[in-house]
Amino acid sequence: MTPTPINEWTLQRLLEWTTNHFNEAGSDSSRLDAEVLLAEALQCQRIELYTRFAEVPDAEPLQKFREWVKRRAAGEPVAYLVGHKEFYSLKFKVTPATLVPRPETEHLIVAALEVCKDAEEPIRIIDVGTGSGCIAVTLAKHLDKQYVIAATDISLEALAVARENAQSHEVESRIRFYEGDLLDALPEGSNPVHLIVSNPPYIGRVEVDTVEDTVKDYEPDAALFAGEQGTEIIERLIPQAEKMLLPGGHLVIEASPTTMDRCVEMVNQSGLDFVEVINDYAGLKRILVARQKG
Ligand code: GLN
Repeated sequence: MTPTPINEWTLQRLLEWTTNHFNEAGSDSSRLDAEVLLAEALQCQRIELYTRFAEVPDAEPLQKFREWVKRRAAGEPVAYLVGHKEFYSLKFKVTPATLVPRPETEHLIVAALEVCKDAEEPIRIIDVGTGSGCIAVTLAKHLDKQYVIAATDISLEALAVARENAQSHEVESRIRFYEGDLLDALPEGSNPVHLIVSNPPYIGRVEVDTVEDTVKDYEPDAALFAGEQGTEIIERLIPQAEKMLLPGGHLVIEASPTTMDRCVEMVNQSGLDFVEVINDYAGLKRILVARQKG
């Protein structure tokens, strides 16, 4: 066996070089980004890279990888380059029409599944602003009770992606998709529900300078920004939810740590009861749970 020449672009060297390159470009997930892109270019699992370190890739995947590395270094999110993102251990298709699912939102799933434990069957759920459909589909995959889910979004393009994700996870017959603004998207006379979940746009224009370029230059504005303060959409959602929740039903939403206190105040001024705020992995106030009286 001839040893690999020292300067050959093995997978190991590619990963090392790319990680450095991404570090210099200011990414804070350089190694992971490099691995996800290389694994996708080679059409293998990320973990397999580690058993193939000495391999030299063929020209075609190598060229694809190099192209992605350039685009990533220029700021494009990895999820849009490879076309998918993992959320709650499920794989979701994403496009520039949808927000990239975030680990913070997994806390919303945990809280939503928890309140479903006590809900009567069939549990009726609405996911407001479904985007890629990650919340609706993940709930559908994890509920061990009878349920129906309605998912809304103002973007038809996003709804098309959400539908595809429901299909690939084989829950499309359990989720209805509606185009429109928040709960106005639902057909007139829709039945009240046990649970409303949402990860609505919640960044304020006032804090736009704190948002990373890789987010604000590539992810959909409509999915990120709510208005000047960031609370504008949640402010409209709370009274709408109040009208659609059954007695004892829950509202579980994601919000910004910077405006969570204001959101709690808005709940307290509504007819809903405040239940709790749940912190994310970084210890920041992220998930707000409220409950309809009764
Ligand atoms: N529900 C989707 C998510 O959590 C989209 C949210 C959004 O676009 N604001 O990723």
